[in-house]
Amino acid sequence: MDLSNPDKLALLSPFELKDALIQTAQTQRDRLMLNAGRGNPNFLATLPRHGFLQLGSFAMSESERSYIYMEDVGGFPKREGIEARFEIFATANAGRPGVRFLEAAVSYVRDQLGLSAGDFLYEMCEAILGCNYPVPVRMLRLTEEIVGHYIHREMIGTHPFVGQFDTYAVEGGTAAMTYLFNSLRENHILEAGDSIALGMPIFTPYIEIPLLNDYELVEVMIDAPPENNWQFTASELNKLLDPKIKAFFLVNPSNPASVKINDESMARIAEIVRQRPDLIILTDDVYGTFADNFVSLFAMCPHNTILVYSFSKYFGATGWRMGVIATHESNVLDERIASLPEDVLASLDARYHSITTEPRKLKFIDRVVADSRTVALNHTAGLSTPVQAQMTLFALFSLMNESDSYQKSMKQIFLRRKQALYKALGLELPHDANSVRYYHLLDLEILATRMYDADFARWMLGRLKPNEALFRLAEETGVILLPGRGFGTAHQSARISLANLNEYDYANIGLSIRKLASEFHAQYVMEGDKAKTLSTDH
Ligand SMILES: *Cc1c(COP(=O)(O)O)cnc(C)c1O
Repeated sequence: MDLSNPDKLALLSPFELKDALIQTAQTQRDRLMLNAGRGNPNFLATLPRHGFLQLGSFAMSESERSYIYMEDVGGFPKREGIEARFEIFATANAGRPGVRFLEAAVSYVRDQLGLSAGDFLYEMCEAILGCNYPVPVRMLRLTEEIVGHYIHREMIGTHPFVGQFDTYAVEGGTAAMTYLFNSLRENHILEAGDSIALGMPIFTPYIEIPLLNDYELVEVMIDAPPENNWQFTASELNKLLDPKIKAFFLVNPSNPASVKINDESMARIAEIVRQRPDLIILTDDVYGTFADNFVSLFAMCPHNTILVYSFSKYFGATGWRMGVIATHESNVLDERIASLPEDVLASLDARYHSITTEPRKLKFIDRVVADSRTVALNHTAGLSTPVQAQMTLFALFSLMNESDSYQKSMKQIFLRRKQALYKALGLELPHDANSVRYYHLLDLEILATRMYDADFARWMLGRLKPNEALFRLAEETGVILLPGRGFGTAHQSARISLANLNEYDYANIGLSIRKLASEFHAQYVMEGDKAKTLSTDH
């Protein structure tokens, strides 16, 4: 790739750009590359993983109670007496990391959630052994109940919430998005030419997927500009009043800006939904667990909202591929399907008749399950059962962590990294109560103004070709940041992930940015001096 032509750089897609930046940063062999473009966390939750490994040991002892007369063959766990056998296992292995956690989990499930401890152990053993297809396909029975408690605690909290919701365990937020787009189209809820609103800036796939030939949706941008602290403005939200807009897709707390929607905008969206009861909301709240007292739009507008949650970021579990989709038992999606014209309903009857004799009673969320496996393979759909076992243990870990020590540690990691960055930049740490700090968006104009002055910022922005500063940073210092533009920001900005590197790396990134800024400033001063000399010559 020819990187010497700045006009070409402006044309690269975000993915090509990332590769080109890495290539540029690697030009000097003896220098370290600092890739702050990645959202993958470099920390992970340990205790629920210890629990998983111990559960595996216990499940093996269950299995090996059968076929003892054969080598390397085991059977299924037995429901009868499983609780007593678990207690013997826990006593024999007391002191091993994870055993105490499992005992606590069993007690919590029985004493706090009012579920059968034996049923729970049996479901978990069967799941971790992976010896049966996932049944029910949408989610294992107790897994759904326990993860439901977790979702309730983290996404709804103390907000009033009436009724139940259904969850579907999927292979991460990625699968949730893919499945939802597909089923919204297959069920004629979103059709080619329909308009959807996107809360901007946003995780890039939400911009790219609707434009694919599969969907051909029209995008309406609802902007959250930097001068409003990355919050939606009232006039932008008012765009949602247009009945042409079928759905509103957003990420909360946002990626890349990493701020949660403020209370005022949340209330305004809820009010708009009251005026527009047909509006569908898809809220991707994968960063919600990093925020204090988080309340999702799913809690505020349950009838209209599809919730997407992923365990990837909070538990450092991107490789597990673990997420959920949730919908309220009474929702606008099922209503929309029921009110489709008769001929369309007949075609949907034909689509789903292989899995139920009453296709019209099939809920939207169960259609998503069926569609995920091309309907005909519905009976072998569902998330891998060992993954569901680990998901349950993540959920229980969080539910039992009454002091929120894990969340406090997460917040501490991000705060210290951001402090290191700003200390090296020589600037005061900006404060925003709505920030969860997973990422940080450096707006170039604001940064240049704070480092020098507004005049210099104007001069610099007038000079810079799109992405030029990012390439100079990569070339001269080995630091990789992603352009905010790839996420749909109007201003020149850079996204720095605070999840992926160590504290001292962020200090080095701050120093590198400072160095580049001072080079630009030196050029600005020189050109200013030249202009002065010229004007006095005449
Ligand atoms: C990381 C991320 C995802 C993808 O999450 P996985 O569960 O790892 O697939 C989805 N949405 C947003 C906003 C993300 O930042």
